[in-house]
Amino acid sequence: MKQTIFEMEEYAKEKNVPIIEKESIAYIMKFIKMNNIKNILEIGSAIGYSAILMASSSSDVKVTTIERDEVRYMECLKNVKKCNLEKEINVVFQDALEVNLSGVTYDLIFIDAAKGQYKKFFEKFKYFLSPNGVIITDNLKFHGYVGKKDTIESKNLRGIVDKIENYIEFLRANDEFDTEFIDVGDGISVSSRKTK
Ligand code: SAH
Ligand code: MG
Repeated sequence: MKQTIFEMEEYAKEKNVPIIEKESIAYIMKFIKMNNIKNILEIGSAIGYSAILMASSSSDVKVTTIERDEVRYMECLKNVKKCNLEKEINVVFQDALEVNLSGVTYDLIFIDAAKGQYKKFFEKFKYFLSPNGVIITDNLKFHGYVGKKDTIESKNLRGIVDKIENYIEFLRANDEFDTEFIDVGDGISVSSRKTK
């Protein structure tokens, strides 16, 4: 397992797969343990790095993870198998915005897919959160670009940063959820339902 994790880190570096930063996944793993989280939904598996670490952070943790890219999906399946976590991790090959979930709720929903669609993911998947569940979102600093839009040349990149900034604003102004922004790794947020 340790060796597979190391190999995944090397693969990600080589092939430019944006896996989560060590500091952030360490924070999330601790969060899972401390809050007794059992059922996790992840949007954006890539090669399974964060899913595998979340699934192994505590006993009886189950992860459903969604990936739309076939090469990454296959790589993810392979890695899950290598770690003997087929029973704990369910990998779904589909666009998350088209996935049909029903009747299940999750203690933790981890949003880590297309940065321009964060708000859409949040609005879709909040209905599948258990009463005390949280939504964690990754890459809110977007490699340091958030808050520094004027310095970005690429229009495309500026567009993404714009959307992340809008998402942060959306979380700040949200009537239903309270959000804590945590300055670890590339920046994460933890959103939980407001208590009335
Ligand atoms: N969570 C992973 C990294 C995910 S990178 C880790 O930390 O190890 C983001 C992934 O989301 C990419 O592999 C991309 O293909 C996928 N993705 C982007 N938009 C998606 C969508 N709408 N549905 C499913 N997967 C998506
Ligand atoms: Mg990420």
